[in-house]
Amino acid sequence: MVVLMRKTHLGFSALLLAAVAGMALILWQGRVGIAAFSSLTGTEPSRVVVVDPGHGGEDGGAVAADGTVESGLNLQIALRLNTLLRLLGQVTVMTRTEDVSIYSDGAETLHQKKVSDLKNRVALVNGLENAVLVSIHQNTLPGSPRTHGAQVFYNGVEPASAIALSMQERLNNSVNTENGKTPKRISDSIYLTKNVMTPAIIVECGFLSNEGETAHLKEPGYQLRLAAAVAAGYFSAEEAP
Ligand SMILES: [Zn+2]
Repeated sequence: MVVLMRKTHLGFSALLLAAVAGMALILWQGRVGIAAFSSLTGTEPSRVVVVDPGHGGEDGGAVAADGTVESGLNLQIALRLNTLLRLLGQVTVMTRTEDVSIYSDGAETLHQKKVSDLKNRVALVNGLENAVLVSIHQNTLPGSPRTHGAQVFYNGVEPASAIALSMQERLNNSVNTENGKTPKRISDSIYLTKNVMTPAIIVECGFLSNEGETAHLKEPGYQLRLAAAVAAGYFSAEEAP
């Protein structure tokens, strides 16, 4: 956890520079300027974006062949996304900012801790007015080691599908250039997105079962490209009529 925080701190200047470049690109691409301005000036009720790095603590999620753990990548990408959204004037809340699971006292087994953690994430989202959940994860498909790319999933609360489509388009133009994907509705078996009452998005940033993609996912620059595409997709969808 300490190493992770130090790395984040050391990389902050580079991140800021890259974030400004990313922001310039987003502004150049169009409509976000108006959205950011109106949320800064309070001329419309602003949404709260809940940035949720999936897993954490004892629940590491998927693990790559080289030992890279999903929860750490989720956190790094989510922190970059949170920085970009805030630079553009978006109100955000993060479910975690460190390598922790957010289970309550009394949870003992790993299963109990996972269940408690998810319930607490749902309670956090449902306790906010006008929230949108953006959950960051990594995929894995060990039987198909060549499968790769970022894909967006959405729940049944609109405008989740429009936000997902907009994010997917930006990701396809940024990191999926030879491998465009289509957003998909999340199965109702996923506890978090089924139980929140707000639009919910899951971004599966890449496949830890793919060696080359795992290497990319660990690069700060690639993480920033993912975060910038997700942020730009979010603002474009929110600005659409
Ligand atoms: Zn996950």
